[in-house]
Amino acid sequence: MDRTDPLFLETLAARLCDALGADAVTAAPEARYRGDRAEPGAADTRFLLALPRDVEGVRATLRLAHETGTPVVPRGAGSGLSGGAVAIDGGIVLGLERLRAIREIDPLDEVAVVEAGVITADLSAALAPQGFFYAPDPASVTISTIGGNVATNAGGLHCAKYGVTRESVLALEVVLADGTLLRTGHRSLKGVTGLDLTQLLIGSEGTLAVIVAVTVRIRPLPVARRTVLARFPTTAQAADGVNAISRSPVRPAATELLDAGALADIDALGGSSLGATGTGAVLLLELDGYGIEEQTADLISVLTGAGGKVQVIEAAAEAEQLWELRRSSRAAGGGRARLGEDVAVPKSRLAEMFAQLAEIGRRHGIRTSAVAHAGDGNLHPALSLPDVPEDPSVALPAPILAAADEVVRTALELGGTISGEHGIGTTKQHWLDLELSPASRDLQHRLKQAFDPHGLLNPGRAL
Ligand SMILES: Cc1cc2nc3c(=O)[nH]c(=O)nc-3n(C[C@H](O)[C@H](O)[C@H](O)COP(=O)(O)OP(=O)(O)OC[C@H]3O[C@@H](n4cnc5c(N)ncnc54)[C@H](O)[C@@H]3O)c2cc1C
Repeated sequence: MDRTDPLFLETLAARLCDALGADAVTAAPEARYRGDRAEPGAADTRFLLALPRDVEGVRATLRLAHETGTPVVPRGAGSGLSGGAVAIDGGIVLGLERLRAIREIDPLDEVAVVEAGVITADLSAALAPQGFFYAPDPASVTISTIGGNVATNAGGLHCAKYGVTRESVLALEVVLADGTLLRTGHRSLKGVTGLDLTQLLIGSEGTLAVIVAVTVRIRPLPVARRTVLARFPTTAQAADGVNAISRSPVRPAATELLDAGALADIDALGGSSLGATGTGAVLLLELDGYGIEEQTADLISVLTGAGGKVQVIEAAAEAEQLWELRRSSRAAGGGRARLGEDVAVPKSRLAEMFAQLAEIGRRHGIRTSAVAHAGDGNLHPALSLPDVPEDPSVALPAPILAAADEVVRTALELGGTISGEHGIGTTKQHWLDLELSPASRDLQHRLKQAFDPHGLLNPGRAL
């Protein structure tokens, strides 16, 4: 088959249909399959959508792509925020959404084996009756897939205590660019044989292999949970509260910081009153596990000592409502020209990062606000121009882009990184050289070549 032939995609579609079945392939996919939540993708992109039902279907798709030199974009739920799952003209979007089996839950080994297309929240729901949960919980937990979470090494609210996705993955089943099925890692909690390909594949954003199944570590449901809200007069004091926790023996399961701007947006969207008069920032925390009363007393003492007004949220419904407000914070402040960023700094430098963010906003004449997974130093600044309406079809105003550039550089200067959890995709590539040395980038390209010699897997993304 000749890729320059104008009928190439039609011929490829016919061959894919033969291999996967006609209902698993379309040449006229819905618009949502063109891109993700950051990049809608160009309307005139011509691509095939393959939605195989099983691992053999994934292998057949990749074998055909390999044979014909066709680029492949692996896709979970398309909830990504870095333009990683954007269709390529003349390529295949390989959706994993039909690989939805939870193959096994084993409480004795404390593992579950799940297929890539399982929605992350569905795994925890399946584990709950057996007294377990899966810890990494991105705010998109009800809409993103385990495969996508592994491909982006997703973080989440409970990652402050339990670690990001990579700390809950023991083994992977992946399909290489030529269709070869490969198993990496081990089911035992320990294991050091050979190079750690599992950890290399985690966070590789679909550039090295297609993940089809994951062996994850599961944890016992905590015997108790407690939500605590602490109001501070300023963001700097709230960040000091985080430092005070670090110096204490208390380790909350979640520590989220919301500044005044973020609180105002959330209140406007959800009708809440988190940003009540005198509140410059809020820490929203969850404690879990044994000794919950002792942990709560210690946390109250630590946060009060740091200048916080602390409230223990006793009612489960009220606590859930607060966490839901936090999870929906990305939608708050919509309707105006806005860029959501994702950077991380060592958590002791959060106060400096927040101060710099405000200063950058002032210098560029834009509004800034931020929510942070403060327990692991990961900020999501929102940079906006309230008087300019949101319009995804035009480029963001120059002051927002210039401010974003400074935000990223500031995070690096403070010892952090250009992406805490959303990944590089297509949207952050122009900053890669700021963080990675030429030697590191060169080695990464050579690793990519070893996995995918013809450069067909998500080409031009992440690396
Ligand atoms: C409201 C909202 C809140 C969010 N909150 C968080 C958060 O708290 N933490 C966080 O980390 N992220 C968050 N995100 C971003 C996003 O949900 C995560 O990056 C998520 O892990 C993406 O999963 P997905 O299944 O949607 O993957 P997609 O968006 O489909 O893909 C993401 C990347 O992974 C690759 N990929 C997907 N599946 C596979 C596979 N099976 N094999 C190989 N490569 C694959 C794609 O090619 C792409 O590069 C949020 C997004 C939204 C919309």
